[in-house]
Amino acid sequence: MIINFHERIHVDDKNICKLFMHEISELYTDMELAAEELELLAMPRRSFTVHFPVRMDSGKTRMFIGHRVQYNDARGPAKGGIRFHPDLTIDDVKDLAFLMVLKCAVANIPFGGSKGGVIVDPKQLSGNELELLTRSYVRAINNFIGPFKDIPAPDVFTGEKIMVWIMDEFERIKGEHVPAVVTGKPVELGGTKARNYSTALGGIYVLEEAMKKLNMGQEGARVAIQGFGNVGKNAARLFFERGYKVVAVSATGGGIIDQAGLDIQKVISHQESRGSLLDFAGAADITNQELLACDCDVLVPAALSDQIHNGNADNVKARIILELANAPTTIDADKIFFNKNIFVIPDVLANAGGVVVSYFEWSQNLNSSYWTEEEVLRNLKNIMVNSFNDVYAACSHEYCRMRRSAYRLAIKRVLEAERLRGNL
Ligand code: GLU
Repeated sequence: MIINFHERIHVDDKNICKLFMHEISELYTDMELAAEELELLAMPRRSFTVHFPVRMDSGKTRMFIGHRVQYNDARGPAKGGIRFHPDLTIDDVKDLAFLMVLKCAVANIPFGGSKGGVIVDPKQLSGNELELLTRSYVRAINNFIGPFKDIPAPDVFTGEKIMVWIMDEFERIKGEHVPAVVTGKPVELGGTKARNYSTALGGIYVLEEAMKKLNMGQEGARVAIQGFGNVGKNAARLFFERGYKVVAVSATGGGIIDQAGLDIQKVISHQESRGSLLDFAGAADITNQELLACDCDVLVPAALSDQIHNGNADNVKARIILELANAPTTIDADKIFFNKNIFVIPDVLANAGGVVVSYFEWSQNLNSSYWTEEEVLRNLKNIMVNSFNDVYAACSHEYCRMRRSAYRLAIKRVLEAERLRGNL
């Protein structure tokens, strides 16, 4: 099928980024984008799939499938995480890479956007198999990554350990040290202070700016968090430490609620010892759907994409949604929130703290000079607060629609870089 934005561009559907098709087709008329600008943004510059072997513990070899999409690098090297997930498709990776382009442009850091991943359920692999899989994926993509080409980072079900294997395998191939090839490393091996909680903290910085604009008090504000991985857990801890009332948290197996506020340190110990959030003393067990619909001031989706949709968006009672996950809200749900006057802080702004601190890590690696935690946090806060205010200031509607505004700002910046390079 040929898609056609009102007769303006003709691009084969299979090449186009789906998210682009939906979001930008609504935006392009008020941005007055030219056909050549639309076409340039509609397709990733490079997207590829690799098939690679891994010798499993059984002694038998299994083939795995990995993807990487480098969506746009006009503003700097492509930047984006690697996820390990059994349901990953190349179309998801394109969408997520496009979001990285927008995210880096909103934060105004000198990166383009990319994303990658392997189709695998990491929980089914032994530690040894996970290491061999990571190294084999790196051998398959090594010519296409590097500190000035494309820089991977953690994402869903990947973390520090996997980043070290990526760096180590890349360095073995190149025969030299190249710490800036990947971010999200442990501090002992060139990582930066605060990277592991930077996504959550960056989100809190922008939320607090939004609360000022909406005249909402922070002390005791009720927060519900969906997702208890690295981002959700750190967000819960930081909210708790800053005096918010975290009333509900959830993970894949369900969650817990206590309107009097959960003691998050105790919840974390409970979850680590039991392997589940359920049956926490004094709290009631809830499903993920109940969490999304619970009474709270701030709802924080911090799990996977498309969690809030046409079918459940109407139940949301929060006043603000802070999207710490990537693409947790479908376009239909976004419209429902707009009509209900719910203030959405979109993913490309809300969770940009992760890639902002990745930028600090990359630049510390290139300079071989390392910052204190205070320096990292001061610079993170600066960038997040400025980004929020840039996006907020660009809202032209009476009631601000932040996603539109963030996309508009990011696209303007990317197109300006393309123009300066002579591509437009
Ligand atoms: N995976 C994170 C994200 O989606 C971080 C990316 C990075 O640091 O490059 O923003």
